[in-house]
Amino acid sequence: MALTFDDGPDPVFTPRLLDVLKKHRTKATFFMVGKAAERHPDIVREVAVAGHTIGNHSWDHPSFPMITGRERREQIQACEKAIAPYGVKLFRPPYGDQSLRSRLEASWLGYQVIMYSVTAVDWLDHDADWMKSRIMNRIANGSIILFHDSLFQYRESRYANREPMLDALDMLLEELGERYTFVTIPELMRQGRPQMAYWVKTTDINILNERSGPYGGPPRYAKVQ
Ligand SMILES: [Zn+2]
Repeated sequence: MALTFDDGPDPVFTPRLLDVLKKHRTKATFFMVGKAAERHPDIVREVAVAGHTIGNHSWDHPSFPMITGRERREQIQACEKAIAPYGVKLFRPPYGDQSLRSRLEASWLGYQVIMYSVTAVDWLDHDADWMKSRIMNRIANGSIILFHDSLFQYRESRYANREPMLDALDMLLEELGERYTFVTIPELMRQGRPQMAYWVKTTDINILNERSGPYGGPPRYAKVQ
């Protein structure tokens, strides 16, 4: 299985996550937001030096089907710069939203799109036990599990607290460490057939516009034909 962590790096929680992963001798994949990576290059390096894989999660997290092709390319390229020289050519679309067109464009830029098969729903107010059981009930060989070491956007500020996620992960690795091997995405692809869901999906534009973020004002989304 592969553990993936989106939306970081975060100056508080990413180093703590690295400690949890180190404790369980586990390697993971981090899909970073370019804007956050640019602010915390030291943490980007720390993640890479610890042996984890770093992938691209766009520059500032727009829903890709709702922006133009040119904006999509700029989003991927700006993030690529921010995570260089450590980033690999793996892309995870923000919110998991993508269209056939946006998927193709990512491949034209040399990226492989990596979705996920199990989520902890750690962007809402769930406690560690709830998240751990949710994941335990859904995993299988080849699972790609989605967590967040930061939340680029959240509905309420208390949801940004990553403590419950870190606790859930710690318990999960404690319990599964004997039975499963956790590997990075490139390793998972070398070893077999990863499980991924939601190949093409969009988010309701009204839900996106309700969200607010730590990087300044509410996001603006316009529908693009
Ligand atoms: Zn994200």
